[in-house]
Amino acid sequence: MPTRFPPDYYINGILDGDRLRLSRAITLIESRRVDDQELAQNVLEALLPKTGNSIRIGITGVPGVGKSTFIEAFGTYLTTLGNKLAVLTIDPTSQRSGGSLLGDKTRMETLSMNSSAYIRPSPAGDSLGGVAHRTRETMLLCEAAGFDVILVETVGVGQSETVVHGMVDFFLLLMLAGAGDELQGMKRGIMELADALAITKADGENVSAATRARVEYQNALHLFPPTDSGWIPPVLTCSALTNVGIIDVWQTVQTYQQLTTQNGSRVLRRQEQQLTWFRSLLRQGLERQFYEEPNLHQQLLALEAQIRSGTLLPAPAVQKLLRSNLHSR
Ligand code: GDP
Repeated sequence: MPTRFPPDYYINGILDGDRLRLSRAITLIESRRVDDQELAQNVLEALLPKTGNSIRIGITGVPGVGKSTFIEAFGTYLTTLGNKLAVLTIDPTSQRSGGSLLGDKTRMETLSMNSSAYIRPSPAGDSLGGVAHRTRETMLLCEAAGFDVILVETVGVGQSETVVHGMVDFFLLLMLAGAGDELQGMKRGIMELADALAITKADGENVSAATRARVEYQNALHLFPPTDSGWIPPVLTCSALTNVGIIDVWQTVQTYQQLTTQNGSRVLRRQEQQLTWFRSLLRQGLERQFYEEPNLHQQLLALEAQIRSGTLLPAPAVQKLLRSNLHSR
């Protein structure tokens, strides 16, 4: 259980850029306790006018594609430009006990010693497809603390891409060269979400393969329907090892920002994201409330027995359940 302080402790601390208080507020946001949540939401509400001013970038890609190495190079570059950077990552260690699965302790070593960068690994816990359940709020707290750029890393599994896409301005997909199969199936869906693709590890012997992959992906992207914002997602190559192409990624983000600010689609995207967030919370709230009904478990068991025995079909069973538990209020 996190230690609780009065709201002003967090609010003033965050506005002063105090990292300890920011971290404590994030811990509070991540807590499942009702009283922690209440306090955290009060803090967030007070800070709301100070949020929204950062560039939010989501970064995804399969394990091993080079996400953390890229974030080190990209993040370090951003801080040399004078940006204050927050990196929100998922700590996979918290999901399973006993040691660091992806060697997380040594991830982003340089950046973690950079005074302009703040790295916050959140417990994966029961997150949705690898995104912490409070990443959105954490992002807002970081904005109030004055971070100019926020990177949200996803572990590249399940639904995490969709979830992160729903909270960032720019979604970057990192890809490996020579992985032609990735144009198929699920990857295609993820590619459709991307605002840019970057082929990683374009150094040494990999350079020509990376260049070939770039052309292939660029051709593949042309087949996708155009985006509402009028932006055509480019395919870049980069190397976090040699730092080649890292600047181009940032320039791409900036060009995107300019275009979408000018044509209004940046604001629209954020508005849509807020509404989607609201609807999803509402659905979750309704579901939780519904399942909290004291007699529900018994009713469910009875209905499921009837469904199993073939005396009741699922649709009328649902209607029955909803009628007796929602309309009765
Ligand atoms: P993640 O699992 O996506 O976070 O990937 P990592 O950043 O941990 O990188 C996976 C492996 O690829 C590590 O062994 C890195 O050293 C290597 N790697 C990452 N970036 C580069 C790069 O730009 N060039 C080369 N040659 N190797 C890289």
